Amino acid sequence: MKKILIDLDDTILVDCYLEVVNKYLKKNYTYDDIKDYWVDEIVPEKSRDKYLKYFYNDINIYDFGKINEGAIETIENLTKYYEVFICSAYIDYRDIANCSKILIHKHKWLIENLPFIKPENFIFTNRKDVIPTDIKIDDKIENLKNCNTKLLITAYHNKNISEQKLKEENIIRVNSWMDIAEILLNH
Ligand SMILES: [Mg+2]
Repeated sequence: MKKILIDLDDTILVDCYLEVVNKYLKKNYTYDDIKDYWVDEIVPEKSRDKYLKYFYNDINIYDFGKINEGAIETIENLTKYYEVFICSAYIDYRDIANCSKILIHKHKWLIENLPFIKPENFIFTNRKDVIPTDIKIDDKIENLKNCNTKLLITAYHNKNISEQKLKEENIIRVNSWMDIAEILLNH
């Protein structure tokens, strides 16, 4: 069975970080306002430490946002033909002492929402590049190294990466989980 590594944030779950920032700042920012990968960089620098304290101590990020359409059903179907791993990063150098608190929330969300994947198939690391596998699905091109089939799911921060650059790196852009199903389940 071929192995697939699937990312969580902005791949399976979307909008969590933007919703939390808007709630915290009492704003209505959209992705057009976000210039970076880190949505919370939009929090003014003088309030950033306070925000991170709130983020890691007072909330569960996964109570926000929504499931990317078709993600759960497609992943369940993938488990029939592939060995599926969920691979999610958690290191945040802006608050290295507290960032591991998010692991509890990630783990809880995964066991509740993807009960058909064994928890031993959860991998929590920022170094996805060192894990060799057959297929990777992620919203960050840096995380698609060390595999044969690289699927980049479109997200606010990768929309402007050119087709030329993706072609050079042998990456296929997918806009939805329906696209992923088409590529990986259409046989
Ligand atoms: Mg991600």
